[in-house]
Amino acid sequence: MMSMENNSREKEGVRTPTSIHTQVIIIGAGPAGAGTSIFLTKAGIPHIIIEKETFPRDKICGDACSGKTVFVLRKANAAWLEDIFKNTAQNTPSHGVVFASPNGNALNIPFNPKKIIQGQAPGFVTPRLIFDNFLFEKLASPYATIYQQSSIKSIERQASEGIKVCFTQGNENYELTAPLIIGADGDKSHVRKVLLRRNVSPRAYCVGLRAYYKGVTGMHEKDFIELHFLPEVLPGYFWIFPLANGMANVGIGMMSERIRDKKINLREEMLNAIKHNPNISHRFTNATLTGKIQGWGLPMCLKRQPLSGDNFLLTGDAASLIDPFTGEGIGNALYSGMLAAFAAEELLKAGKFDAAFIKGKYDDVLFKRIGDELRMSALLQRLCHYPWLFNFVVKKAHKSPTLNTALTSMFTDIDLRKQLRKPSFYAKILFNK
Ligand SMILES: Cc1cc2nc3c(=O)[nH]c(=O)nc-3n(C[C@H](O)[C@H](O)[C@H](O)COP(=O)(O)OP(=O)(O)OC[C@H]3O[C@@H](n4cnc5c(N)ncnc54)[C@H](O)[C@@H]3O)c2cc1C
Repeated sequence: MMSMENNSREKEGVRTPTSIHTQVIIIGAGPAGAGTSIFLTKAGIPHIIIEKETFPRDKICGDACSGKTVFVLRKANAAWLEDIFKNTAQNTPSHGVVFASPNGNALNIPFNPKKIIQGQAPGFVTPRLIFDNFLFEKLASPYATIYQQSSIKSIERQASEGIKVCFTQGNENYELTAPLIIGADGDKSHVRKVLLRRNVSPRAYCVGLRAYYKGVTGMHEKDFIELHFLPEVLPGYFWIFPLANGMANVGIGMMSERIRDKKINLREEMLNAIKHNPNISHRFTNATLTGKIQGWGLPMCLKRQPLSGDNFLLTGDAASLIDPFTGEGIGNALYSGMLAAFAAEELLKAGKFDAAFIKGKYDDVLFKRIGDELRMSALLQRLCHYPWLFNFVVKKAHKSPTLNTALTSMFTDIDLRKQLRKPSFYAKILFNK
């Protein structure tokens, strides 16, 4: 009877699902999913990745990879970093950042030279179409099975197996079971919606537009990335990030609540800055737009939120881990992916997947490492609501090496950020030390 039913369903084009049991299911193969997979493979843990697109795929982004990205890649495989820095036709090493305050006063901050390891810059800028595919190609291993162009039909928790995921790939149906699922499915995370049942707070949400331009002039000789804190988009900013072959990633980001409240047309603000801002427009005189101006959301971490529960945990944008001041999300996606893999190893060893145990092994560890810098960035972001205060800080940073270093460390140095907790740090700034 059963097989007759299956036969008639197959004739209708509905195939009997293939059932697979694995140790860990990852949804999404962006930096968070790739970071998780790379470190699961290192630990010899079999896992399955489900990705809705086919790589190489684009991701709307500023394309700037900071010190934390470099840190995780070095930990994963130092030779990969060598390949990135050797290939300057695709990757542009970053040696510093230009902060332009609302009054147009610019501060050039070279990254800490101590962070130049084996001649490699502390960061780099690479179009995500290239960078994400570079990572994706590193995932091939006997431990990783990848389903691309796949569509998730359901995710549910089961008493016996932990998690069950049903998905299709072309005409094939699959039923996966595992004791643990890792949500690495970005901003609009399906895993977060189904298992955490929480949406991103609109207060912690930013909208960004990105465009590629050819022929922007006046870049810093060492290809510093540029953040222009224009008064009209605070606490967001307009950016110019140099790319190879005379290209630049140009964009603008702003809090979505402010866009809604002030009825701002972000695209118009961006084009307005390019055409009329006295510190920017002359650099675009002969520049041409390549492709379209495209937008996407940035879920930011303004305060600690739960990132896990029974049988699941979230990484990267699915966990809203974007730095609220710098807008950096690639590094935190890779870093949280790495910590998720470390946590998975411990959970599998203990055979425990309850919410309290996962929180101790993942959420607590992650926030112990990056909680301080995120809190500091949330504070700096609040400061950006006040242009006069921001102008003051940039002016002060011209005189205070301590503040200068602190701003640099926002991009390059996880451990240096610890100094932000010490009262002596603020005393030094006051006295221009
Ligand atoms: C305009 C803009 C500018 C930015 N600039 C920078 C910058 O310069 N530097 C920086 O560090 N960060 C930047 N960010 C943030 C950065 O892009 C993200 O933080 C980063 O991509 C997060 O990585 P992720 O792996 O968590 O998510 P993603 O990169 O979004 O990857 C998620 C993956 O999951 C897949 N997926 C989604 N849903 C499903 C599903 N249902 N089933 C299967 N697969 C699914 C997607 O196809 C995708 O491959 C920017 C963001 C924006 C919007």
